[in-house]
Amino acid sequence: MEPGEILLSEEQIQKRVREMAYEIRRDFPDDLHLVAVLKGSFVFLSDLARNLDGRVSLDFMAVSSYGRGTTSGEVRLMKDLDAALDGRHVLIVEDIVDSGLTLARLQEILRARAPRTLRTACLLSKPARRRVPVPVDYVGFEIPDTFVVGYGLDYGDRYRNLRYIAAMRSCPGDL
Ligand code: 5GP
Repeated sequence: MEPGEILLSEEQIQKRVREMAYEIRRDFPDDLHLVAVLKGSFVFLSDLARNLDGRVSLDFMAVSSYGRGTTSGEVRLMKDLDAALDGRHVLIVEDIVDSGLTLARLQEILRARAPRTLRTACLLSKPARRRVPVPVDYVGFEIPDTFVVGYGLDYGDRYRNLRYIAAMRSCPGDL
């Protein structure tokens, strides 16, 4: 497998991230606490944060998902947040929503920590793959049901450094 067709160019992504930052700031003009989910969202977080004027703080968490074949949405916290969320305006920053199971569980975990508001920004969404309804307040792009890499997203921990988003395609030698 290797990156094939470019679905979203660097220019398209940068323009949309700027628009998203504008929308988010319009809705939350004061302190905003960004919670990024490692590793996939690190590039999106970095661009989004730099396009947000004013006061921003950020924190990281890492999760691993189990039960992809089920609707259990079992999510294990591999790295928890450093700071408490109570009373804060919290924005979850995610790379991609696929089945929605990971995000739904994450929202549940974070909501239990009593933030003043809890919103979610995702760069990519694959609506055709959704298995559970999950609210996403800011969506960068809706994409078809295809596996993508780049701009933080990996295949076997590679291709995160691509400045664009490409669909993976099989190549000679693949089984
Ligand atoms: P969900 O729980 O929504 O099914 O899974 C979300 C997670 O699956 C994402 O955070 C991401 O890690 C991974 N994922 C889903 N679709 C893709 C994709 O097309 N490319 C990559 N690299 N990861 C994906």
